[in-house]
Amino acid sequence: MARAGEFSLIDSLFRPLAASASGALDLRDDAALVRVPEGQELTVSCDTLVSGVHFLPKDPPDLVARKCLRVNLSDMAAMGAEPKGVLLSAQLAPDVTTDWLERFADGLGQDLKTFGIGLYGGDTVATPGPTAFSVTIFGHVTQGTALRRSGAKVGQGIWVSGSLGDAAFGLIVLRDGLLGLEHEHQNFLADRYRLPRPRVDLGLGLRGIASACMDVSDGLVADLTHLAKASGVQAVISAPSLPMSDAVAALVADDLDRLESVFAGGDDYELLFCADDAPKIQDMLKALAQETQTPLCRIGQMRPLPAMAKQGDGVLGTAASSEPT
Ligand code: ADP
Ligand code: MG
Repeated sequence: MARAGEFSLIDSLFRPLAASASGALDLRDDAALVRVPEGQELTVSCDTLVSGVHFLPKDPPDLVARKCLRVNLSDMAAMGAEPKGVLLSAQLAPDVTTDWLERFADGLGQDLKTFGIGLYGGDTVATPGPTAFSVTIFGHVTQGTALRRSGAKVGQGIWVSGSLGDAAFGLIVLRDGLLGLEHEHQNFLADRYRLPRPRVDLGLGLRGIASACMDVSDGLVADLTHLAKASGVQAVISAPSLPMSDAVAALVADDLDRLESVFAGGDDYELLFCADDAPKIQDMLKALAQETQTPLCRIGQMRPLPAMAKQGDGVLGTAASSEPT
């Protein structure tokens, strides 16, 4: 089915969504104008979702749009930044219809509102395929307070929000189904894959509490290794302490090999951070968990690098151990 031309798509689908962002100039100029308040830094990041790779061609278009926004919002959360707006590059294959795009724009509008951010511009191009969407997000953070990956110290606790492995199993549910798992659990897992919950409020609240932070997009082991490497320490996590949803706990109880997806599965978009074990910090974390209604779980501790490790290539990787920490 044919679809409307580029200008008509911008007019009918994207311009209405830009109305709330004054610097977007109604998408009628060559670029947007963004003011950064005094004392704040601009935080910028970009993530692309490719059809067949990061979402499934049959996925509901509104969920695809919301996922595009949410994976980017998760990067703002990981920096402790307040998200302000996005730019959207839509690269559309011939099979994308106007109807599909209308539903995509509905989802986009819904989440722009939910997260209080504006659409500041973008680009719309035709491609032989596959369809892809790149979102560039920007936000603000008070100078010097952004959460970096590099601040973790020996002795600090390693924490993660929410639960791990849900999205990895959600993808299996959507692709092949998971025989024997009750429907409610299947729906929960599929939803976790298709609609991440970026921990924006948690990220904002972690400023001044966490020494290092990142979001878990590639899987706990890969991401924790990045954080430990950036900080020059060794991460030791305790396998039994990893937070699992009821659905994943049921799957693991059936087959222990599935623990691998809890360690290594991607797409959960939880926050991984380090903090002192001091009682005052623990109290602040407890209060923050309550305030943001986000479960927080201490899964391990940072240790010194083994003497053998050279500066730079540093970390041995994340040691998964059953040792209590
Ligand atoms: P250019 O010729 O410079 O590429 P365009 O004609 O692509 O400009 O875009 C016109 C306006 O529409 C610009 O303000 C641009 O930011 C906006 N725009 C284009 N595509 C999108 C999109 N997918 N989402 C949001 N804004 C868009
Ligand atoms: Mg353009």
